[in-house]
Amino acid sequence: MGQGTRINVVEGSEGPRCDPYGYHEITVERRGLRVTGHFGLATWVKVVLDTGETMPATVAKNDLAECNKWFAVYAGMTPEQAYTYNLRKQWRCRHCGNKRLTPHRGYPGETIYVCERCDKPSHADQDMSAIE
Ligand SMILES: [Zn+2]
Repeated sequence: MGQGTRINVVEGSEGPRCDPYGYHEITVERRGLRVTGHFGLATWVKVVLDTGETMPATVAKNDLAECNKWFAVYAGMTPEQAYTYNLRKQWRCRHCGNKRLTPHRGYPGETIYVCERCDKPSHADQDMSAIE
């Protein structure tokens, strides 16, 4: 996870009220770019520069492979990684509720998150070094 990278995930539903369809919209802000991927009934990705301009080439619509590709190119991580990382950010120690968890290496490919307050392992997960 590079310095200054911010991830935000919004979940909601779209489509007709009688048959709503869940979506999630993932926004990664990084290096002056704001990359937004919308994955649901409609699927799109757009990249906005810090000047407020949209990069036209990056607006991919309803083509999941293209969307995943552009998202990864500009956000530096796949939509899935961003989504997972965002969930992890909201974790709290399951022993004491503390929000500060420090990743430690566990078994190969595994990361253990240890609470900074009570020093107990709280969560374990696959290695996320690809985006750190
Ligand atoms: Zn704790």
